[in-house]
Amino acid sequence: MKNNSIHATNFRKVLELFRDDRAQDAARLLKVIQEDYLELYSENKELRSQIKEVADILNLAECMDFDGQKYWINDDSEVTGPYCQVCYDKEGVLIRLQEREKHWECYSCENLFAKIPKAVTLGKNVPKGKMKPPLKLFSAK
Ligand SMILES: [Zn+2]
Repeated sequence: MKNNSIHATNFRKVLELFRDDRAQDAARLLKVIQEDYLELYSENKELRSQIKEVADILNLAECMDFDGQKYWINDDSEVTGPYCQVCYDKEGVLIRLQEREKHWECYSCENLFAKIPKAVTLGKNVPKGKMKPPLKLFSAK
């Protein structure tokens, strides 16, 4: 990464060269500065996209799963949790639930969450029954 003070020095040098009637040298140096600038520009662009990438990873909403009661964080490689739904929805904080024999407990808001078997996931067991045809209110004569 280029140091900013180098640029400051070079800009001063360009001024001095112009002052000394050395326009050609000044132009050459300006070209160097321009190249440095373009380099910094693309580096900056790359850093911005990296920051965006990190921000996306940190975006919890994207990797948070709601099992109908509690939140889990699922970031592909591992699943952590569960976390209290009440605390997260209210305060935006992730409070890890304490596991009890038949339920999960939140230390913060003291809510209890009954344990549900893992196989039960909301919505998935609903059979896709055939849609009933609409009732004929007016029959054509
Ligand atoms: Zn809570």
